[in-house]
Amino acid sequence: MGARPGIQITGPPLPANTSVSRQPLRLAVFTPDGYTSGMIVLTNTGGVAMTNSFLIADETARQAVLFDAPDHTVAPLLETATARGWELTGLWLTHGHFDHFADHAVVRQKFPGARILLHALDQPKARQPEAQTRLFGLPLVIPPLVADADLTDNQELKIGSLAVVALHTPGHSPGHVAYYFPQEQLLVGGDLIIGGSIGRTDLPDSDPRQMQASVRRVMSLPGATRLLGGHGQPTTLRQEQEHNLLVQELLA
Ligand SMILES: [Zn+2]
Ligand SMILES: [Zn+2]
Repeated sequence: MGARPGIQITGPPLPANTSVSRQPLRLAVFTPDGYTSGMIVLTNTGGVAMTNSFLIADETARQAVLFDAPDHTVAPLLETATARGWELTGLWLTHGHFDHFADHAVVRQKFPGARILLHALDQPKARQPEAQTRLFGLPLVIPPLVADADLTDNQELKIGSLAVVALHTPGHSPGHVAYYFPQEQLLVGGDLIIGGSIGRTDLPDSDPRQMQASVRRVMSLPGATRLLGGHGQPTTLRQEQEHNLLVQELLA
């Protein structure tokens, strides 16, 4: 997260990164106008697909939620949560592709109280990870994941006092969900709009028409909305509207 207004990069002592995570842990303290409590967003990127994991906390309430759990990536985030005295109340998954939930058991072991949320349509994939490890020829053993609850479209969630809305955004995967923070204008976007492109729609359960509808829906949110995608760098919806050719095509 660069020098955009409203986001400051701060440098308190952080745990050393794991050797598998190829980027340093980034800590952003995000304080939007009119919001006095401390919203903190931490990012770590890693695993075989270089997937982003986000830890979002309400520091005042000492509660945090982890968004996605890529392989070899969650440990530094969980250590930070422990060091700061945060209760991890949830692991909220954007979808059931292996690179977004592989480390779910690590989260469960360190924070048994964290509720794992996943849309029902992606739960079959998560229950049988070996189908994906075979398909992609991965050197990983991923334990089967049984979510604690289904997510539904427009479901309202809370992290401390932070309001979050789950947006069912199928296309890349039938049970894909993006998480919108309306007050802070922030979107944890999963593999919908990623790295100047969009998520792939050539997988057996992808649907390009649903993808178009989902991209249109998300792009109708305010342009200033910060987008934290499942891969690549943070961006804003306005930047994507101006520079992402695939998004422009789907909006035309
Ligand atoms: Zn995916
Ligand atoms: Zn992904």
